[in-house]
Amino acid sequence: MKPAPFVYHAPRELEEALGLLAEHGHEGKVLAGGQSLVPVLNMRLAAPAHLVDINRLPGLDRVEVTDDAVRVGALVRHADLLAHEGAAAAQPLLRQALRHVAHPVIRNRGTVVGSLAHADPSGELPAILAITDGSVQLRSRGGERTLSCQEFFVGPMECAVEPEELAVVAVFGRFPAGTRTAFTETARRHGDYAVAGTALALRVEDGRATLARVSYVSVTEVPAVLDLVPTLEGHDLGTPGAAADRALQDALADAVAAFVEPGDDIHASADYRRHLAVVQTTRLLAELLGSTAATTEEN
Ligand SMILES: Cc1cc2nc3c(=O)[nH]c(=O)nc-3n(C[C@H](O)[C@H](O)[C@H](O)COP(=O)(O)OP(=O)(O)OC[C@H]3O[C@@H](n4cnc5c(N)ncnc54)[C@H](O)[C@@H]3O)c2cc1C
Repeated sequence: MKPAPFVYHAPRELEEALGLLAEHGHEGKVLAGGQSLVPVLNMRLAAPAHLVDINRLPGLDRVEVTDDAVRVGALVRHADLLAHEGAAAAQPLLRQALRHVAHPVIRNRGTVVGSLAHADPSGELPAILAITDGSVQLRSRGGERTLSCQEFFVGPMECAVEPEELAVVAVFGRFPAGTRTAFTETARRHGDYAVAGTALALRVEDGRATLARVSYVSVTEVPAVLDLVPTLEGHDLGTPGAAADRALQDALADAVAAFVEPGDDIHASADYRRHLAVVQTTRLLAELLGSTAATTEEN
């Protein structure tokens, strides 16, 4: 199918783009990498009268690593961030998750910020924004505002960006030194959207978890973070094989199963997705504790 007719705008300055978005309001739509928007237009699931292509805007293609964050401009492609050594060192979850985003061709064109604005619960990057306690900076002709991850995602496929606003920078937080991270997902084929995916960040000091955050792909309606510190409390994580402890596995399974809220679709049942979230969390914990012996599947 072909898209409904639209007027194409290719502004060269940010103020010009913001003017166009203000002028056209609900009739306008931002075009970044087009990897989600173009299929939506082709299927006529959306029919904006004006497309504002931001690809010629200067200054939005930068990745900046600061003491407490990785700041990603609106024109940074998935492939750019995946290859960025400074970003991978500062927040390893970015590279760990980006490896699973679609295929190289799509990663060469699709943007990180576009992926957040698309707000698909099956996207990897919304879960990473959540677990890193990130935020998104928005610009409009009226000024600038920053939304926390919780404020940004308002529902499945729905974010809080107003029609006259442009998301200019995504800010992914960094964890304290010594935090270990891991990401895994289950997809029918590599590069497909995940049936379920899990990101885990863990910091253990003197056998106790001082940071234990987990977020999920495809099993929560909006990105959300489960704090596992209370669940891990009372378990000596410094003991070799701690992750294989049955009581710990049961506590983890209960916490994860109660937290996720998966739905049924043609790819998987809610029960299967919930099971995957439990198994993935248990495996990642075992991985980060240095043991791969424990999975709930062995029970
Ligand atoms: C075959 C295929 C497989 C895919 N697999 C995955 C996958 O496994 N995981 C995954 O996460 N994604 C996947 N994607 C989506 C892909 O990652 C897109 O790149 C991403 O979702 C959107 O980024 P984009 O720059 O292409 O945005 P666009 O398609 O240009 O825009 C997407 C939406 O965001 C809005 N938008 C974009 N940028 C801004 C901005 N700066 N400010 C305000 N609004 C903005 C647009 O108006 C539109 O509503 C897949 C896509 C395809 C076609």
